[in-house]
Amino acid sequence: MPRLDNEPDLEHPRMFDSSRELLYIQISDRYGLIRGPRMASDIITLAHGAGGSVMQSLIKQYVLKHLGGANVEVPLAALDDAAVVDGIVFKSDSYTVKPIFFPGGDIGRLAICGTVNDICMIGGEPLALAEGFILEEGLSLSDFDRILLSMRKTCDEAGVPIVTGDTKVMERGALEKIVINSSGIGKRNASLDHDLSEVRQYRNCDSQWLLDSNVRKGDKIILSGTIGDHGISVLSAREGYGFETRIESDAAPLNHLTNDMLRVGGIVAMKDPTRGGLANLLNEWSEKSHVGILLREQNIPIKEGVRSACEMLGLDVMEIGNEGKVVAAVVPEKVEDVLAVMRRCSVGKEAMIIGEATSEFYVVAMETVVGGRRIIPPPAGDPVPRIC
Ligand code: MG
Repeated sequence: MPRLDNEPDLEHPRMFDSSRELLYIQISDRYGLIRGPRMASDIITLAHGAGGSVMQSLIKQYVLKHLGGANVEVPLAALDDAAVVDGIVFKSDSYTVKPIFFPGGDIGRLAICGTVNDICMIGGEPLALAEGFILEEGLSLSDFDRILLSMRKTCDEAGVPIVTGDTKVMERGALEKIVINSSGIGKRNASLDHDLSEVRQYRNCDSQWLLDSNVRKGDKIILSGTIGDHGISVLSAREGYGFETRIESDAAPLNHLTNDMLRVGGIVAMKDPTRGGLANLLNEWSEKSHVGILLREQNIPIKEGVRSACEMLGLDVMEIGNEGKVVAAVVPEKVEDVLAVMRRCSVGKEAMIIGEATSEFYVVAMETVVGGRRIIPPPAGDPVPRIC
C-alpha cells in the first residue's frame, strides 16, 4: 500500500472533516487495513455515519449487541429499511445534511422523503410522521420558516401528515444550525398481498414483507432513474465547485411510485440507494440473500454532469447517495409490466433493468461497457459525508 500525501495519522485518530479523508478510509478498507489502529481506537469518525461497511460494523458490534434482541415481526437485527411490529411499519431517521439548503432540496424535504421512502421500501404505506427539531442558537427564523414550508409542501406531495414532534435548542457551536429527527408509522400496503401472490405464481417466497433477504437467482434488478444526483448536488453546494451543469438533488417521496409497482406485483424486495449508493444496496442484498448480482454498466442511467463531476473528483458514482430512487428485485415474468408502470410515473420515467441475481458467484459484479467484469465491493462509506 503506497503512502498517500494526505494520509491521516492512524496513531492519533481524530474527527474526519473532508471527503478526501473518507476516501482514504475506503482505500484502506479495501486493502484490509481498516480493522487496524483506526477501528481499535475509541473514537467515532464521520465514516461511522456514512452508510457503508464501517457504519455496518459499528451497528453490529455496538448497537445490536445491546439493543438488537427484540422479538418482533421485522426486528432491528434485520437491519432493513424499517421495522414491523404487530403489522405496523415503524421507522426513525435523523438528518444532518451540510449545507441545509442545496440545489433541488433542503434538510426539511430530505427528512420527509427519507422516512416516507423507508416505510414504502419494506411494503408499508406511510400514515403519519413525527418531526423532532434540534436548533442551534443563532439559526435565523427565516431559514427555519423556509425549512418548515418545504416540509409542508413535501408532505402534501406525499399525502402524509406530520402529527407530532418536538423542538429543542442547543447553544451556539453545539451543532450546525439544525438537526431533524424524522419518524413515521405505516400500515401494510393494500397491494402487498397481491404483489407477493404474483411472486408465488412463479416461485416460492415465504416472506410477508419486502426484505433485503428475499432476492433469489433469476430475479431482475430494476433501478428507477439516474444515480449520484443527490450526493453531487450537496457536495457542489458545500464546496462551491461551480460545475458547468447545475446538478439538482433527486430528493422525492416515492410512495405513489411504489404503490403503482405493487399493484402490478411480482416484486420481492425494494430498497432506496441512499448513503453508500447502489454499491452498498446491492452488497446488502447479496449478503443477506446469499446471491450474486450481475450488473450491466451500460444500463445504469447517469447524468452527464454527474459523470464528469465524479471523474473530476475521483469519486465512484456507484457509491454516491440518492434520495429519490428505488431499486427493486422482481421475478422475471413480471419485470416488463413493472418497468412499464414505473416509466409512466414522473419519478420513474428513466427506470431501467440494470442486472439480475445469480448463483454463479456470491458478490456484486458489473459487466463494464468495454466488455470486462469488475467486482463492486461494499463501500467503507459514502465518499461524500453528511449528505442526509
Ligand atoms: Mg432505506
